[in-house]
Amino acid sequence: MKRIYLDYAATTPVHPRVLQEMQPFFSERFGNPSSLHLFGQEAKMAVETARGRLARLIGAWPEEIVFTSGGTEADNFALEGIAYAQEDKGNHIIISAIEHHAVIKCANFLQSRGFQVTILPVGGDGLVDPGEVKKSITDKTILVSVMHANNEIGTIQPLPEISKVVKEKGSLLHSDAIQTVGHLPFNVDALGADLLSISAHKLYGPKGVGALYVRKGTKMVNLLHGGSQESGHRASTENVPAIIGLGVAAEVVLEEMLEERTRLIPLRDKLIKCILDKIPDTQLNGHPTLRLPNNVNISFKYVEGEAMILNLDLQGIAASSGSACSSGSTEPSHVLSAIGLAPEVARGSVRFTLGRLVKEEDINFVLEVLPKIVEKLRAMSPLAKK
Ligand SMILES: *Cc1c(COP(=O)(O)O)cnc(C)c1O
Repeated sequence: MKRIYLDYAATTPVHPRVLQEMQPFFSERFGNPSSLHLFGQEAKMAVETARGRLARLIGAWPEEIVFTSGGTEADNFALEGIAYAQEDKGNHIIISAIEHHAVIKCANFLQSRGFQVTILPVGGDGLVDPGEVKKSITDKTILVSVMHANNEIGTIQPLPEISKVVKEKGSLLHSDAIQTVGHLPFNVDALGADLLSISAHKLYGPKGVGALYVRKGTKMVNLLHGGSQESGHRASTENVPAIIGLGVAAEVVLEEMLEERTRLIPLRDKLIKCILDKIPDTQLNGHPTLRLPNNVNISFKYVEGEAMILNLDLQGIAASSGSACSSGSTEPSHVLSAIGLAPEVARGSVRFTLGRLVKEEDINFVLEVLPKIVEKLRAMSPLAKK
């Protein structure tokens, strides 16, 4: 059976060039970058090359990149690192209601430690209104965290406008850009972000490595204490092969991004339009145009998303219901709740996320099998109109 992977927001396959360039750093080039001998210095130079490549992708200086163990650590480092370093300035943090759990749960933790947290609502299309930020921000606000694009519904936030409001108050803006780095062209200065989270495995790099961009001069405390790696910002011997992989991935996506976007947008729009046209009682979630080039999120009324996923899987198609992190639980995702979906509609949501290996014939196959699956499940559903 042909297998079709449509879950690129959960993770992406490592690009062949990434794998190839990582390989020697597991074996003959195994040195510790902190060592003074040639083995060490070779590894050190390779890590710095990777830093430069990643910096170039987002328009930063290499010294503004701190490598981490992934996107989750980058998000935690941003929130806790700022909260504890800037306590003297204030104790208020603002996040949006549709942040990834890596931000939400970290903010909850900080709240339990005495910080004040405001959770901003979003509109039905998933957009954060800069006016709402303006209403919530005070002289005590040290950090505003709004993701660049949402991993479930794909809505892209108006970060430059939000940044303007944040700057007026002299506060800092963090953005979880894990779904956009390598997928959308941008530059940290144009976005107006002071901190930006990156995860390699969402851009054809390996799992277990990421980075936090920290604008020069930003005062942070460290999460990890120990050696003086990452200019003293993150202790622990560098995951050299993974960092090399992230660097190569950054270079590859920079080369391929525009072409890939131009190829994926029509495929995305075809999938959306044909589902909405062919299958009754369906709706698109997220913004129709301010949307990731690879994201399709549809609610199918009168069916369970989980059942859809299992039936698609039997046909070789990999998609996701809610988000990878919340599937397995029957609670509808916090993102779909935040955009105002009734629980029963949210539970019938399926996310298809496209990427490098997806071809038009794959989309055609999905469009062929999907109506049959929905029909079958609805025939069994007591809620469906018969
Ligand atoms: C995947 C993801 C994360 C977590 O990144 P890891 O590298 O898996 O820890 C955080 N935020 C968003 C938006 C993501 O998509």
